[in-house]
Amino acid sequence: MVDFSVLAVPGVQALRPYEPGKPVATLERELGIRDAVKLASNENPLGPSPRALAAIQTVLGDLHIYPDGNGFALKQALADRHGVVPEQIILGNGSNEILELVARAWLAPGRNAVFSEHAFAVYPLVVQAVSAEGRAASVLPADASQPFGHDLESMLARVDTDTRVVFVANPNNPTGTWVSAEDLERFLSRIPAETLVVVDEAYAEYVEAAEYPDTTQWVPRFPNLIVTRTFSKIHGLAGLRLGYSVSSAGVAELLNRVRQPFNVNALAQTAGLAALADTGHVAESVRVNREGLAQIGAGLRERGLDFIPSVGNFITFDMRQPPAPVYERLLHQGVIVRPVANYGLPTHLRVTIGTRGENDRFLAALDRVLQA
Ligand code: PMP
Repeated sequence: MVDFSVLAVPGVQALRPYEPGKPVATLERELGIRDAVKLASNENPLGPSPRALAAIQTVLGDLHIYPDGNGFALKQALADRHGVVPEQIILGNGSNEILELVARAWLAPGRNAVFSEHAFAVYPLVVQAVSAEGRAASVLPADASQPFGHDLESMLARVDTDTRVVFVANPNNPTGTWVSAEDLERFLSRIPAETLVVVDEAYAEYVEAAEYPDTTQWVPRFPNLIVTRTFSKIHGLAGLRLGYSVSSAGVAELLNRVRQPFNVNALAQTAGLAALADTGHVAESVRVNREGLAQIGAGLRERGLDFIPSVGNFITFDMRQPPAPVYERLLHQGVIVRPVANYGLPTHLRVTIGTRGENDRFLAALDRVLQA
């Protein structure tokens, strides 16, 4: 028998695949239960915009036609939204794909990428998949104002002449921590011009802090900047897989070279366009999340559990012990949360903010588990 694993490229030989949150249907099948609630993948509890759903209906009859490989209408709308030209936008099969395109375009053996410890798990994966070196920078201490947050000084210290890409998650998943405009701007001005900086803004729309930057506006000043956004979170379209980047046109053109021709499907393009226009749905999603963050934050505090203050649509809390038994017992209560040991947080669990009712269910289930 040929051992194909030793024939794989070096990075892939050592790669451990991404572990997604457990789907509701899987849990219900495994435990024979019903009405489970998934608070494990930072999805929008309100669902998609009704306008996106209506728009999809109008194109169902055209599914025998390839999608617009250049995403003309959606790119134009996004360009208008951010005050850039369509040539600066790349659409992705989720923003996840953009991260992968960046790695394919600029990383290879002998080159490295810098990211933070406890940062989004896909950064090390895409780096390793192309057999480049991933460098994790140490984080801010647990008693900092952004506990476990990106330490930009520590990230800078990991950058050398072979660093082609730096990933900054703002805010970061799973910590929910963020970087201010002032700090990020100073950081960007100190990064070598030849090093690309991906600022991953998957949760940007949820952040209400005044000092939170909209880095899509900074591209003219920082030609090495790539900002990524997604329709999976605030727009509630995770199932369709749609994300995008804003960068200089030159950088976008390079990303476009490694993109497969029809990477974003027709339904995603149509839904995205409609979702973008539904500012009411976005505002309501922000409101429900703001209230849910307060509700779950208060609930955790009442139960004496420490958590990392979050500006995202999730909270990561500390069980101060290996949380697998708690995770399992929550599953038996029909509540799916997310273990984050693979993020270097072995005693924490992450819960996504749901509707008020879902948050109540999580807290009630937690009570039953903690009493047991
Ligand atoms: N960045 C961060 C920080 C995320 O948490 C996620 C999703 N969990 C993504 C990017 C990718 O999301 P998508 O591919 O659905 O756009």
